[in-house]
Amino acid sequence: MCGIVGYVGYRGAPEILVNGLRKLEYRGYDSAGVAVVFDNEIKIAKTKGKVNNLAERIEKTWSEKLQTKATTGISHTRWATHGEPNEINAHPHLDNDGRTVLVHNGIIENCRALKARLLAEGHTFASETDTEVLAHLVGKYYKTDLIEAVCEALSKVEGTFGIAVLAKDKPDEIVVARKGSPIVIGVGDDETFVASDAAAIVAHTKNVIYLDDGDVAILTAGEVEVRTLENSPISREVSTLEFDADSAEKGEHKHFMHKEIFEQPDALRNAIGGRLDKDKATAILSGLSMSPREMAELRRFIMVACGTSMNAGLVGEYYFEDLADMITDVEQAAEFRYRNPIIGSQDMVLAISQSGETADTLAAIREAKQKGALISGLCNVVGSTIARETGRGVYLHAGPEIGVASTKAFTCQVAVLLMMALKFGRGRRLSRDVGQKLCAAISNIPKYAEETLKLDGQIRDIAKVYAGVEDVFFIGRGYMYPVALEGALKLKEISYIHAEGYHAAELKHGPIALLEPRVPVVALANDVPGKDKTIGNIEECKARNSPVIAVVTGDDPCVDGLADHIIRVPETPDVIAPITVAIALQLFAYHIAEFRGCEIDQPRNLAKSVTVE
Ligand code: GLU
Repeated sequence: MCGIVGYVGYRGAPEILVNGLRKLEYRGYDSAGVAVVFDNEIKIAKTKGKVNNLAERIEKTWSEKLQTKATTGISHTRWATHGEPNEINAHPHLDNDGRTVLVHNGIIENCRALKARLLAEGHTFASETDTEVLAHLVGKYYKTDLIEAVCEALSKVEGTFGIAVLAKDKPDEIVVARKGSPIVIGVGDDETFVASDAAAIVAHTKNVIYLDDGDVAILTAGEVEVRTLENSPISREVSTLEFDADSAEKGEHKHFMHKEIFEQPDALRNAIGGRLDKDKATAILSGLSMSPREMAELRRFIMVACGTSMNAGLVGEYYFEDLADMITDVEQAAEFRYRNPIIGSQDMVLAISQSGETADTLAAIREAKQKGALISGLCNVVGSTIARETGRGVYLHAGPEIGVASTKAFTCQVAVLLMMALKFGRGRRLSRDVGQKLCAAISNIPKYAEETLKLDGQIRDIAKVYAGVEDVFFIGRGYMYPVALEGALKLKEISYIHAEGYHAAELKHGPIALLEPRVPVVALANDVPGKDKTIGNIEECKARNSPVIAVVTGDDPCVDGLADHIIRVPETPDVIAPITVAIALQLFAYHIAEFRGCEIDQPRNLAKSVTVE
């Protein structure tokens, strides 16, 4: 969450920082701010709301000279945890004497105790943030060596941080540090960049250094020096970014979400490409690096995740039980971590996270590792913390996902989980014949996604009818149950309609009390086991006068004359239906949100990549 961008070099920093923030705005948009060092002064501009407001403020209030000649700066876009999203609480924050300034991503958990001590020492605070406490600590310890002051201050804090710090008497230096919040450094020619996400850097350089937890670094225009938090030197490799700047642009699409929905055939092609061995009837997922024997000895498979990734995991649970013949659980990551789970060396714990930075999921796999389980990751962002810490796993290769509401990451996660189940299944009891059929089905996923996208116009028409409702239920069984959860999540995230996903059988155990003509039900009556029972549940909804939008397979007449609207997704093998139906429900949510005039890429209170617990 939140974005950090820093620059030290020879060009005007403000423009580079603001453009970098625009690339990170999906990570938080409560407020934005910039600080530069110029003429031995710290200059700060900050505003409530979006980065555009900040750009305007700089344009109006900073001199041309300041805008072009200040060559060292840090900046931030905030997702508030401590203190409301207003201008005062916006970062950067100064220390008590105004000699150093800092931006921060994360939470300082012991900020109250630290603040009380600083207040007793005579400090005065301008904001309600935890970050300002850390800024004051840095200032308190700052004499002449900035990195020393940062290390000293960080030794006093509990919690998580990614920070960037400037001092007014060090015009050519930025100090950065991380614990629990990503920091990536971009190495250019006579200029150095830093950000919380490579998307802000990729337009300038592809040579990057990822900091590990517990690293601090001094950045100057020509040099990057990494140290430990105990201030001893350590070396970190320079790696090459794999995505290019264009893939993080909206192109001709009105929203990133729209672009990403329509990118799904290609994203799925990338996720699947080169990963099927049709002859051996299995999937090649080299990152999982396990011998067939190790696979055969696994006792249990546990997926830990949050939000949309957890819904993908729930689909994966069916795959693993059905195809890999393996006891499988899906756990909400925070709950797993704090519940003292029973796990051991024959369990594999898979962390599913698009960003690879989700704080709860990261903490969950650390706990699993501590308890001796095998750990692995399913991430989209290459080089992300979960990917690096697990050291074993599969990348989605879906390309950057910027829209806050996850779309292509979900369908690619489902596709990769299906391939994983195939691989594990073939190492256990799955026959070659079934394996070959699955290979054929998986290789057709991109084509099925393309066909589903052709329903866009029809789904838009249906969305128009329901854009004014305030409550919607989504119901399904089997594979369609987690898809119902995901459909409801998508709708509430971007349209602010109250939406609930339920197992179709569960409706009558409570929620049915809410059904009435103003409460439509989206019923997933696809050709998967349990369909006939779902049709019975549709009858129950109709008997309570709820409008029903049914999703069915191809020209199946099963709800003709019963449902008010029918969305016909392409005919596919049933294991593929979670992908096609999810795409249809993404379009439904997107168009409803559009008709309601919502801020689709930046829904209120949300941010991409949840890096706080
Ligand atoms: N905890 C800090 C605040 O509320 C940082 C939040 C963020 O990561 O954006 O200001």
